[in-house]
Amino acid sequence: MDLPGHVLREQNGLRWIEPDGSLGGIARVLFTTRGGGHSRPPYDSLNLALHVDDVSERVRMNRRAVQAVFGPRVRPPVVMDQVHGARVAVVGEIHAGTRWEAPESALAGTDALVTATLRLPLTVLVADCVPVAIADPKSFRGVLAVAHAGWRGLAEGILGATVARLQETYGTDAADCCAWLGPAIGPCCYTVGAEVAAHFPDDARDGPGGEWRLDIGGAAARQLAAAGLQPERITHLSLCTACRGDLFFSHRRATQAGDPATGRQALFAWIIPPPAPG
Ligand SMILES: [Zn+2]
Repeated sequence: MDLPGHVLREQNGLRWIEPDGSLGGIARVLFTTRGGGHSRPPYDSLNLALHVDDVSERVRMNRRAVQAVFGPRVRPPVVMDQVHGARVAVVGEIHAGTRWEAPESALAGTDALVTATLRLPLTVLVADCVPVAIADPKSFRGVLAVAHAGWRGLAEGILGATVARLQETYGTDAADCCAWLGPAIGPCCYTVGAEVAAHFPDDARDGPGGEWRLDIGGAAARQLAAAGLQPERITHLSLCTACRGDLFFSHRRATQAGDPATGRQALFAWIIPPPAPG
């Protein structure tokens, strides 16, 4: 499989994708596929979401299997309650494991996280929306953000809000940041109504059948550039989640197939320690 700038890794029966090298020199980024895990159809098989009516214990087994490949001294991941909004939360050591073993009230209604804490994985669950990681290598020993960017969140300015929160909290200069955008539904498959397309005049196109097609990854990259990131520091692994049923869950594909539900893959990103001196 051709994954420019990325590697497909396998361990303990799990398959995931990582960029070659760290993001901005300070963060490890890992994106799961549906390969591996314990869930049964229509969640087969590495479903990482507790909120989609899969058997909770299977999801917990899947989450533990993923955690096992993170390596030593990595904290339990932080999961947020994503609502397609534009709220950003600052998290630290005390948030390790939030919503990881079970749903709870913390981080409700949150679609982006920022942190300066080492080895604290920030999680984004997706099936077609764009998973985003942003690394600022210049502030402190590096600071990190993740965001869940669907069309509603983008229309509300989730990525601009995330960069603004990095600036307010850590003094980040957006021009120093590197961003990674993961697999999301592509314009090949993402037909939308005119009312959705109207939010994205630069990234929605009239299709042959008169329907609109939205390039949501392009829209996310455009919002990051508008927030001050340098376009050459924005990497997009543009595999389509709806086309690539061999690799990914897709809400749109499941809906079109008449499946009652589907699973979620996940982006995990965490700040890694600086290399030892000498
Ligand atoms: Zn597609």
